Amino acid sequence: MLVGPPGAGKGTQAARLSERLDAPHISTGDIFRENMKNETDLGKEAQRYVDAGDLVPDEVTVKMVKDRLAQPDAQEGFLLDGFPRNAAQARELEDVLSELGQRLDAVLVFEVDDEELVKRLTSRGRSDDTEETIRHRQEVYRSETEPLIEHYQDIAVRVDAVGSVEEITDRAMDALADEPDD
Ligand code: AMP
Repeated sequence: MLVGPPGAGKGTQAARLSERLDAPHISTGDIFRENMKNETDLGKEAQRYVDAGDLVPDEVTVKMVKDRLAQPDAQEGFLLDGFPRNAAQARELEDVLSELGQRLDAVLVFEVDDEELVKRLTSRGRSDDTEETIRHRQEVYRSETEPLIEHYQDIAVRVDAVGSVEEITDRAMDALADEPDD
């Protein structure tokens, strides 16, 4: 699982780690965006929350993740990017994983200072990257998501996420290799 503030580069790194680890990259944000683009029921339901930088309701999000984790390609491992994002989702994830006979091996915590984050986000050009929603998503991260790190402290590994894309991938791989596999 990857965690870090909006703009920390989780999506970029998750895609690269997915290749190196040969495990699917499961990004709730990507799944929402794909559904919004195709104007599915799920997409229509998610749209206003995503546009506002709010979390999509847990019920909707958890069901989506549950379906995705049950797919054949996720049975040997997966990278979770952007989920869970609050305590209720973390509890639900535990239930889902135990039903599937799975568990989280590690939580990669991407660390970037605030100034760098704003710089990155304002140059990204995503439709939910206006200054106002960026600020709001950062607040949501600090209040809802960041406190989860403590919950996962036994399996949390910190990654300095400032540097070149390649450097950061190498750091993440090193951090995973150091994580004792019990
Ligand atoms: P991301 O691509 O991870 O930055 O997510 C973009 C947007 O999708 C977020 O601002 C939320 O509106 C929504 N989203 C992504 N993941 C979640 C989640 N785990 N729970 C609720 N909403 C989510």
